Amino acid sequence: MIAETPFYQFSPQVLQAAGDAEARCRAVFEGIQQVEEYNQQKVLRAFADNRVSETHFYGSTGYGYGDMGRETLDAVYAQVFGAQDALVRHNFVSGTHALATALFGVLRPGDVLLAVTGAPYDTLEEVIGLRGEGNGSLKDFGVQYRQVDLREDSQPDYLAISKNASTAKVVYIQRSRGYSLRDSLSVDTIAAIIQQVRRVNHHAIVMVDNCYGEFVETREPTQVGADLIIGSLIKNPGGGIARTGGYIAGRKDLIELCSYRLTSPGMGKEVGCTLGESQRMFMGLFFAPSVVASAVKTAVFASAMFESFGYAVYPRFDEHRTDIIQAVRLGSPEGLCAFCRGIQKGAPVDSYVTPEPWDMPGYDSPVIMAAGAFTGGASIELSADGPMREPYAAWMQGGLTYSSGKTGVMLAAQSMLDSGVLKL
Ligand SMILES: *Cc1c(COP(=O)(O)O)cnc(C)c1O
Repeated sequence: MIAETPFYQFSPQVLQAAGDAEARCRAVFEGIQQVEEYNQQKVLRAFADNRVSETHFYGSTGYGYGDMGRETLDAVYAQVFGAQDALVRHNFVSGTHALATALFGVLRPGDVLLAVTGAPYDTLEEVIGLRGEGNGSLKDFGVQYRQVDLREDSQPDYLAISKNASTAKVVYIQRSRGYSLRDSLSVDTIAAIIQQVRRVNHHAIVMVDNCYGEFVETREPTQVGADLIIGSLIKNPGGGIARTGGYIAGRKDLIELCSYRLTSPGMGKEVGCTLGESQRMFMGLFFAPSVVASAVKTAVFASAMFESFGYAVYPRFDEHRTDIIQAVRLGSPEGLCAFCRGIQKGAPVDSYVTPEPWDMPGYDSPVIMAAGAFTGGASIELSADGPMREPYAAWMQGGLTYSSGKTGVMLAAQSMLDSGVLKL
């Protein structure tokens, strides 16, 4: 049983279920702590080796030539991710922008982009040209797209990958489940895909959408042979402190090409003022292993608790994790709404707001979202959302601290109990 406090009125059944769930998670939490400690030392070592100092926090303006903070942050990221180089910028407006920069950076007319983990994240459809016409997509520039789906059991289709990889310029892997109920890909599985690709194509550029994956395991895809990894700083590696931004890390020659796309050919990484953002990007990276561990613990706790209520959860609490996402199949519109409303109540910001389903551009059914974050849209902070259609699943992620994340999850259960969709 989890102790009562005077601050939130939880029913005895919720307190009991939370206590039981937490007890079941104990061994899993120990594993998470080991990963956290490993990754914290990895980050600390990189700060020390690159002699990070206060002078790196002074922001530059204008062109930003010779900005030592920017150059050092790139070097620290590269070391942490076991990459030759990195491009870490507050002026990547989102993960999609960083991914698009990498794709346009290395692909040329006539090249083939091969996605080997099924359909990529929704926002990439217009980048690739699967949706929309004449918008300057890869397709508009003559880049062909092919796709190998995951098998029924969520595993890569190695046979189909080796059949298709020989003509690919870029082989594209998405680590996280995104908004599907498939399994996320462990770094081991990513390594196996890369080996398979290399058997038939030595030159293919293996690119990994690493969003939500950073610091969940002790290795990143660049440490098992990926040529480029890409992510968002308002997710894992920003540690809840970076206010915006994204990164690309990997092979030096490819980072240079990406930098030409971000700024312009010839200028590349040599320009780009940091204004006042460097300190927060350094600090966020420093906090990231610990914040990611809190988010993973929150996900594991939610999984154990909602499974005990009889809901299907993806992944189960004791399954191996490689991202911070937890899906819970709530089975009814009322269940999904009550869940998200409870999560919202646990937010430090906008906790008084009641989420309602709404028609979001690009989605075929209304979506309900719970988010009350210090940084707009930051999903390393506790958040949950789901489309109002079968199977009425909520995807939740984040939690800057485990205690606040746990409270949010308990409020979700309480909200479902109060609205009568959950009977205990
Ligand atoms: C978040 C995310 C992205 C990028 O989304 P943005 O909202 O543009 O940052 C891409 N792929 C995956 C798997 C993601 O989780």
